[in-house]
Amino acid sequence: MSELRHDPIQKRWVIIATERSRRPTDFRHEEPQKQLSHVESCPFCEGNEDKTPPEIFAIREPGSRKNGPGWELRVFPNKFPALRVEGDIGRRGLGIYDMMNGVGAHEVIVETKNHSLHMGDMPVSHLKKVVSVYKSRILDLGRDTRLRYTLVFKNHGAVAGASLMHPHTQLIATSITPRTISQELDSGKEHFLAKERCLFCDIINQELALKERIIYETREFIVLAPFASRFPFECAIYPRRHSHDYTLMNDAELYEFARVLKATLYKLKVALNDPPYNFVIHTAPYTTPRPGKEHYWKTLPYDYHWHIEIIPRLTRVAGFEWGTGFYINTASPEMAAEFLQNVELPEGFFDE
Ligand SMILES: [Zn+2]
Ligand SMILES: [Zn+2]
Repeated sequence: MSELRHDPIQKRWVIIATERSRRPTDFRHEEPQKQLSHVESCPFCEGNEDKTPPEIFAIREPGSRKNGPGWELRVFPNKFPALRVEGDIGRRGLGIYDMMNGVGAHEVIVETKNHSLHMGDMPVSHLKKVVSVYKSRILDLGRDTRLRYTLVFKNHGAVAGASLMHPHTQLIATSITPRTISQELDSGKEHFLAKERCLFCDIINQELALKERIIYETREFIVLAPFASRFPFECAIYPRRHSHDYTLMNDAELYEFARVLKATLYKLKVALNDPPYNFVIHTAPYTTPRPGKEHYWKTLPYDYHWHIEIIPRLTRVAGFEWGTGFYINTASPEMAAEFLQNVELPEGFFDE
C-alpha cells in the first residue's frame, strides 16, 4: 500500500507509491554524457575567456593574466542575468500587487577547466577550493545590505536545466528570502520555541538511531535519504554538529565537506549511470537588521541548521504536483538509501 508522509521541515505531504515502485536499477539514466576534456566552442573552456563577462574572482597559476588562460577556477557574472547588481530595490505597490526592481546578483562559478569532469571524480583538494569559493561568494555578497539571501545551486545535465555541459555552479542573490528557505526558517523557529531544540538536530539524531535512511556518514557529516523524499534517490547532507550557517565552516570542515560531497555524487553517478541532478545549498539568510523587527533573527543560530539537497532528475514533475504542491515518489527512501549505501568507494578514492 502507498503511504502519505509528512515533511516536518517543509510542512509538505509526499505520496510514497510503493506499489508502483521499481527496482533500483530501473531508475538508471540511459544517456550518459560524452567525455571530452576540452571543447573549442565551449565558452567555459580555457582559451575562451573573452566569451564570458570579465571575472569577479579566479584561482590562477602564478604569472597568468586576469581574464586570460591559466586558471583553475573562475567566477564571473552570468551573461544573461536574471537579476542585476545596479540600482535601488524600489519597493512599490500596484493596487493589491507588490513589486520591486530586479536587483540582485547572478554569477557563474566554472569549477574546473576540464570540460567533462564530474564532481564525484574531482580530487578532494580541488573540490575543497570549489566549496570554499561558495563560502567566499556568499560572504562577499552579504556585504550588500540590499540583499537578503544567496542561493548556491548546480544544474548538471540538460534535463536538470544546464544549458552548458561544462562543470559549473551558479548563485543568485536576492533582496527577498526564497520561500523554501523561509518555510524552513519558520519550521525551525516554531520547533525551537516549543522544545528549545533544533528541529534538524532532532531529525539527524532520530535518523542515526533508526539507521534506515542513512546513505553515508563520517565523523563530521551525515548523508541521508529524507523521510518524505519528493524524488527517487533524493539526498541531503547535514553537518552533524549544529551550525546554522555554511560560511562558518573553517578550512578543515570545508575539506571534510568536499570529501562527503564527492562521495555522495560519486555514488549517485555509479548507481544511476551519471544522471542529471541539481543541488542546492540551504543556509542562513543574511541577518541585516529589519526595521520594526529587531528580534527577528535572535534565535537563528540555535534554530536553523544548514544543509545541502541533492536531487537526481529521473522523473518529471506533472499535473498532480503542480495542482497540489505535494509529490508522488515511486522509490522509497529506504530502498534508495540501501542501494546508495552499497555503492562502494574504490580503493584510493580520496587520494590525490
Ligand atoms: Zn568546456
Ligand atoms: Zn541543528
